[in-house]
Amino acid sequence: MNRAYAEQLVSRWVGILGLTTWHIHVVWPENAHLWPENDDDFGKFGKDDYAAVWRPKDYETARLYINEELLTSFRPDAHLTLEVAIVHELLHLVTRDIEGILDQLEGQLHRDVRDVIETVFSHNLEAAVDRLAYSLVRFSNSIDPAL
Ligand SMILES: [Zn+2]
Repeated sequence: MNRAYAEQLVSRWVGILGLTTWHIHVVWPENAHLWPENDDDFGKFGKDDYAAVWRPKDYETARLYINEELLTSFRPDAHLTLEVAIVHELLHLVTRDIEGILDQLEGQLHRDVRDVIETVFSHNLEAAVDRLAYSLVRFSNSIDPAL
């Protein structure tokens, strides 16, 4: 696997997920400096982090960071893991407005209540996005493209 393969997967899934109106940049480490306002941890991956996505609240633009270690991994399921990671992050663009509900609650609830809601909401959203990503990838790979 290489960067071109990863970028092909992104293009394929952008179409499948109906994100063609979005401007999505796949950001490789040497290009991260192009977005200096992004001086957080995007692109700095821990051992189990495969990808990350950044998107603003209002515009259909996003930056997708992919952990390059996956591209050279000898794990037997590395292809599947890479594709699921990409689909997972792209699904966060599909759910962006749902995730924005928490921003709209800002200042409306007691901090303790908001913390509980945010924790439960985030945990369950991540679980749903992950389950959908695995299911979509497995389903798409089981379809004969000639059909
Ligand atoms: Zn996620």
